[in-house]
Amino acid sequence: MAEMSPFEPVIGLEIHAQLRTETKIFCGCRNRFGAPPNTDVCPVCLGLPGALPVLNARAVEFAIRAALALNCTVHERSIFARKNYFYPDLPKGYQISQYDRPLATGGWIDLGGTRVGITRLHMEEDAGKSLHHGFADSDRAAYLDFNRAGVPLVEIVTEPDLRSAADAAACFTRIRDLVVALGVNDGNMEEGSLRCDANVSLRPAGSAAFGTKTEIKNINSFRYVAQALDYEIARQAAQLERGQAVDQETRLFDSDRGETQSMRGKEEAHDYRYFPEPDLPPLDVSAAAIDAIRQSLPELPDARERRFVSSYGLSAYDAEVLVRLMPGAADFFEATVAAGASAKAASNWIQGEVRRALKDAGTEDAAAATISPERLAGLIALVERGAISNTVAKTVFERMWTSDRTAQAIVDAEGLAQIDDLALLERLVGEVIAAHPDSVAQIRAGRHNVIGFLVGLVMKATGGKANPRRVSELLTRAINGD
Ligand code: ADP
Ligand code: ZN
Ligand code: MG
Repeated sequence: MAEMSPFEPVIGLEIHAQLRTETKIFCGCRNRFGAPPNTDVCPVCLGLPGALPVLNARAVEFAIRAALALNCTVHERSIFARKNYFYPDLPKGYQISQYDRPLATGGWIDLGGTRVGITRLHMEEDAGKSLHHGFADSDRAAYLDFNRAGVPLVEIVTEPDLRSAADAAACFTRIRDLVVALGVNDGNMEEGSLRCDANVSLRPAGSAAFGTKTEIKNINSFRYVAQALDYEIARQAAQLERGQAVDQETRLFDSDRGETQSMRGKEEAHDYRYFPEPDLPPLDVSAAAIDAIRQSLPELPDARERRFVSSYGLSAYDAEVLVRLMPGAADFFEATVAAGASAKAASNWIQGEVRRALKDAGTEDAAAATISPERLAGLIALVERGAISNTVAKTVFERMWTSDRTAQAIVDAEGLAQIDDLALLERLVGEVIAAHPDSVAQIRAGRHNVIGFLVGLVMKATGGKANPRRVSELLTRAINGD
């Protein structure tokens, strides 16, 4: 039996997701990544005196989509609040957020077997970015880029329902899949579109009360969430085993060292002095508007995975790969089947050759495939009709990937159709038998699997164009008699 830790981890996540609106949450500036510093700014998002915020209706709609997909209750009235703190990248000296009356509360998300509660989802604005490096090594200045200031965010807070680092990473992954499928977030964690704060405490196994938690701020990958929590769980366990209390503090994950480090303790914790935002009215959304958004939700990943199993007969594993693990693959798959391919063959080709070719091209996204679902279906049809062997099909696929020709056109132009000429096959079988008397003797002595070696030689002699089953039959008959 594995050694049991006397402590059980308790984990809750706070996830910040940028909303993919055209413009920022309270002004008309462009919401985009990568523009030259301080070019997407105006008096509102720079916090200049007298400038007034105007709420972006599209951001509200996106936030409601996310809240409904997370099974939350969306409130018809919520309130924006000022969260006050001083930081150079926060031009107004406060962030407009929501506090005691958030947009949505009381949801959940399923993780395979376990259900994780969603405490709340609220709207807020992103801050700018501090850059702590200049153009020369000797440059010790800090630079500020306010392009990100005022980008709309939702913060999604989970209940402390998670019990392992792996589950926490899986929860973050599921939430990303969801907001991406909803079209409200681009899922780009390298660009910071999605960030996670992980809260973790330990308690004696079997105890009902929670221990003191630490919060690890701003983690930007699934892998780092798991690594940071594993490190933190081990650190807290060592502390408790030494008989020392865990300090309530905020920590940062150093991905180079694989360690968390203290950023600030309880004493330095911010007092945000929240109060209702006087420059914005309450956010009112009618029940009818909420319902219209509910009706417009697309099929979500869980439901799609289930449908791939029930209506296409795929395995749960194949459904998961297509829906969750290969971006764009589910749409590509459905288009390939709609163009006439069998589901199993389409799934195999997409997870096999298409995925490999995408990787070679430096991407994972099936939408970047240079072969259309219709052309792939054409190739699969040729294999299923027996017009070409699987081996030849792979060659044809290569040619298709780098051209816009159909499978049939390539097979016709290059004479790749399967060889059905019985006389030719029998002659090649005879030649292979004559050249390998040892193998023939082994087969006659009962080592039937040696036949595979001879089949391979005949296939090679035909450039892969014979039907291997046919070749195997001819060899067996020639060697063992009828
Ligand atoms: P805070 O007041 O420190 O912001 P909250 O109660 O708002 O704490 O919770 C913030 C996050 O921390 C939530 O995701 C919640 O699930 C999680 N959390 C709260 N208490 C604990 C605990 N004892 N251990 C682990 N996570 C916790
Ligand atoms: Zn602006
Ligand atoms: Mg809190």
